[in-house]
Amino acid sequence: MNNKLYSNLIFELSHKGRRAYSLPKNEFGKHKLPQSMRRAADAELPECDEMTVVRHYTNMSENNFGVDNGFYPLGSCTMKYNPPVNEEAAALSSLNNLHPLQPTETVQGALKVEYMLQRALSAITGMSDFTLNPCAGAHGELTGLMIIRSYHSSRNDNKRNKVIVPDSAHGTNPASAAVCGLEILEVKSTEDGLVDLDNLKEIVAEHPDDIAAMMMTNPNTLGLFEKDIPAITKLIHDAGGLMYYDGANLNPMLGVARPADMGFDVMHINLHKTFSTPHGGGGPGSGPVGVREGLEDFLPKPHVKKEGDKYVVDNPAPAEGEYSVRNNRVGSFLGNFLVIVRALTYILSLGKEHIKMVGPLSVLNANYIKESLKDDYELPITGLCKHEFVFNGLKDKSTGVTTMDVAKRLLDFGYHAPTIYFPLLFHESMMIEPTENESKETIDGFISVMHRIAKEARENPDLVKGSPHNTPIGRTDDVLAAKHPIVNYKQALADK
Ligand SMILES: *Cc1c(COP(=O)(O)O)cnc(C)c1O
Repeated sequence: MNNKLYSNLIFELSHKGRRAYSLPKNEFGKHKLPQSMRRAADAELPECDEMTVVRHYTNMSENNFGVDNGFYPLGSCTMKYNPPVNEEAAALSSLNNLHPLQPTETVQGALKVEYMLQRALSAITGMSDFTLNPCAGAHGELTGLMIIRSYHSSRNDNKRNKVIVPDSAHGTNPASAAVCGLEILEVKSTEDGLVDLDNLKEIVAEHPDDIAAMMMTNPNTLGLFEKDIPAITKLIHDAGGLMYYDGANLNPMLGVARPADMGFDVMHINLHKTFSTPHGGGGPGSGPVGVREGLEDFLPKPHVKKEGDKYVVDNPAPAEGEYSVRNNRVGSFLGNFLVIVRALTYILSLGKEHIKMVGPLSVLNANYIKESLKDDYELPITGLCKHEFVFNGLKDKSTGVTTMDVAKRLLDFGYHAPTIYFPLLFHESMMIEPTENESKETIDGFISVMHRIAKEARENPDLVKGSPHNTPIGRTDDVLAAKHPIVNYKQALADK
């Protein structure tokens, strides 16, 4: 494919007077808009023939990278396969042509979908009940923390305004806590990459009566299972705080271990990660929030309930109070419905038996890659990982080839890069998460390319540093792009 030709903007392909269509003759006369509502000059639209338009957009779409056309080991994001059956369910007009204000008798099927997913998520996590209303993981975190604040304030324990967050946490954790008006206390990691229990004890001792909660991801962002979890939850519970589980890493736990059994009180799930909705480029998402027994009352509303064999929407008047989320809304209606449909379809198509294979297979794939590459890439934390792990760049630091260079070079071979420079615990982090669906051949292909790049770094470092060489656009200047974004075609043309 001639990338140059197809990297033109549609405006550059424009020729005055070209048309891709013709409209039937207007037999109804002109409708006269008032002068004040009419534009003074014609809109500057591209004028192209139909083939040019079709080829332009088709070729552009082929520059898109997705799970359906290549290996996508983006750590922390669980870029798993979205089976077509999910899309078929989401495309059913009986599900996607509903109006959110329709009388509930006419949408019993849709409410059943919501109810079944609430129950399935409870079975998977051990939580008592879920709200499906939040629209993303971060939105779930905020909702969960609001639930925790509501709980404390319902007991008139309003001084609890601190939340403990590990230094390895995803950036959304401290951000959500800050939005919720909580102060963040950072707990350090040990050399093994786990929460430092001694440091946690010190923090708790310094704050005997104002800890609202501790947020944790388990397995954590290094892909390590927090083996001290019983001691951690006891420490926080004894100090009067609640345990919040960031469920973005639930994938390796599916059917293996349940957050409620680990002692967590409130959690969110990223349906678009663990339960397979395509989410590259930022959406769509869904971040259901679950609570353990005793906290159900604090879930936001509306909420689907089952009464006899009818599904009803529980939507009482909101409760009062500064932090109260109880009976309040956190989003529109009953959440991001078609993501909910996809998640339920995914869970039902795997079934109770096969969903148990997701965790072990994703763990096997991650460990296989890690062990195969650790001679060429620096592995700061050894031993068994869960579904993902982190390298600290190339082992041979003398080549000057960075994690960024390796990530760019991978694009030349048709792979999506891993997550880079996160977590912040290491300078050259490269976070790899393969997911359970990948075949051994796919993974072996990736491993051999990673070895090849390490060899290139030793023998011809400039080749790696100058990459990518085969993509339509080379290396962009991230800083310039952030400081001087070019967002319209005239400026882009002027700069060409
Ligand atoms: C993805 C992720 C989040 C945030 O979820 P969004 O759906 O992107 O808002 C939070 N924590 C961890 C560990 C994540 O990987």
